[in-house]
Amino acid sequence: MNSAFFRLIFRSELRNKFALFFIILASVPALILGGVALLLIDISHRHDVANLEAQLIDEKTSEIEKFFSDTLGILELRVGFTQTSEIASSEQKFLLEGLMEEHRAFEEVSFIGLEGRESAKRFRDGTEFLCQREEDECNDVSRLPKFQIPAAGKNFIGAVSYTLSGPVITFSAPVRNRNDDIIQVLSAEVNLSQVVRSIENARLGAAGHLLLLDRDGALIAGREHRGVGIGVDLSQFERVGRLMEGEQLGGLDEEDRYRSIFTHEPVVGAGKRIGGIGWLLMAEWPLRDADAIIDDVKNQVLRVTIFGIIAVLLLAFLFANRLLQPIAALKRGAAEIEEGNFEKQVVIRTNDEFQELGSAFNKMAQGLKRLQELKNEFTFIAAHELRTPVTAIRGYISMIREGTAGSVSETARKYLDTVWEANERLVRLINDILEIARSEAGRIKIEVFAVDIRESVRSVFEETKPLADEKKLSLAYERSDELRLVLADTARLKEILVNLVSNAIKYNREGGWVKISHELEENFLVTHVEDNGIGISLEDQKHMFGKFFRADSARVQKITGTGLGMFITKELVEKMGGTIWLQSEEGKGSRFSFKLPAVS
Ligand code: ADP
Repeated sequence: MNSAFFRLIFRSELRNKFALFFIILASVPALILGGVALLLIDISHRHDVANLEAQLIDEKTSEIEKFFSDTLGILELRVGFTQTSEIASSEQKFLLEGLMEEHRAFEEVSFIGLEGRESAKRFRDGTEFLCQREEDECNDVSRLPKFQIPAAGKNFIGAVSYTLSGPVITFSAPVRNRNDDIIQVLSAEVNLSQVVRSIENARLGAAGHLLLLDRDGALIAGREHRGVGIGVDLSQFERVGRLMEGEQLGGLDEEDRYRSIFTHEPVVGAGKRIGGIGWLLMAEWPLRDADAIIDDVKNQVLRVTIFGIIAVLLLAFLFANRLLQPIAALKRGAAEIEEGNFEKQVVIRTNDEFQELGSAFNKMAQGLKRLQELKNEFTFIAAHELRTPVTAIRGYISMIREGTAGSVSETARKYLDTVWEANERLVRLINDILEIARSEAGRIKIEVFAVDIRESVRSVFEETKPLADEKKLSLAYERSDELRLVLADTARLKEILVNLVSNAIKYNREGGWVKISHELEENFLVTHVEDNGIGISLEDQKHMFGKFFRADSARVQKITGTGLGMFITKELVEKMGGTIWLQSEEGKGSRFSFKLPAVS
């Protein structure tokens, strides 16, 4: 984008303010809504993630609980006799066979007598062992909890042990007769591979997974256990420790977003302890997966918000522009009036207060025009009326000075000289004012022809030479035979040159110089009137062509003048289709230049 575009957009202070106002007005709610939407989406997404984790954990919890209750249900054997002693060996063998059939997870099952010795045992591979005689080396398990607890009437669930074929757990339950007396204990080694498989296959999204830990914090099952083997103690991890203490981790808090125990990538986690058994179930869901959908939604919301703000930005500029159009039209109208052009009408068609303001402005311009005409009229009449008496005074003083009215004493002559000087100033002033009034009333007639400017310069030099001689100034002309014809009104061109040359002499030092030269600038002939006089300060240069301007310096004040010469000169140059400008340095001199259409 180029700088012109920026100038167009940012040129106006008011436009910027309007635009800023609308932008703030519209983008703040957009940003707030966008922010709130993002926040709500985030909160609801966190809840969704936590709910999914909790659901999966609950599902698996009931699965495990069911596995336990089923297993114990199978083990809780009730015998239909009123017997008080052990079941017969053959029957034990038969029952164990049946149990093995019933539950695929049993690795081995055994009956234990009330004295704590295993009476019958059967393995998954079909081998069995019966302890019938005294001398049989029957396993004594009387000191183990798997016997003691059921012997006291309660079901027993042991700790997980880790074998080559996977984690295994011991279950045992009392065997009762019809009278509810405990007559034996039934114990089973249960393979947990069904539970392990279920945990390992459980999935949250694409990458979320579950971990099952035993009540001591050792890993029973978990898919992602790179470098962490089954059975490894994880109780030193803070979250595992908290779960072991019975705390439930919901997946909603900031602390539930942490680095995975295994992969070390950021995850959102939840977990709980399974009531009766004391095992721990944990979910870990990598954030990159859990937040994948939400990131898409967030991006979408962000995109819509940004798009909205850009649209608001453009609309704000368009609206501000539209709002400023009438103001710009009024500004242009005011500038025209400042230039003295009262004819130009301001056109505003907005059907509102701006349009009314536009017509009020036009009416005001008409009023100003009328005032200006009245003022010009008045100035013209006043100056015109003043000229007659002043000219008469001039004539009579001249006659008195020349002695027509008799001899004049020295003192009277001195006074007369002063009166003559003052009257001369008055004549000049009135002439200047008349000229301006004429010009403003459009009464100056300018007729342009091809004029040989060399002739005009010669005549002006001739006229101003006495003035130059008085100050011992030299007048130089760098004439050119090619650059000589301009399109101008002869008398007015001479007036311009007289004004410039006489100023160059007036505001010069004794022994200085005045030089006139020309150059061609496209189709215009430029004339420079240069001097090495007192020069003009930068501040004064700005006011040079204004009405009644005279420099403030003591030097200038000593020299008589009206401050109207340069104003008239500029008017004349412009009326002939030219322009005037100056370069000057205080104390060094000035160069006034004007250009008029050249005739080739
Ligand atoms: P004035 O009647 O005072 O000469 P002008 O309009 O001709 O009025 O000039 C306005 C003022 O500009 C002068 O009073 C003077 O201060 C300054 N000025 C004009 N021409 C020159 C010049 N060549 N050098 C220095 N000052 C100048």
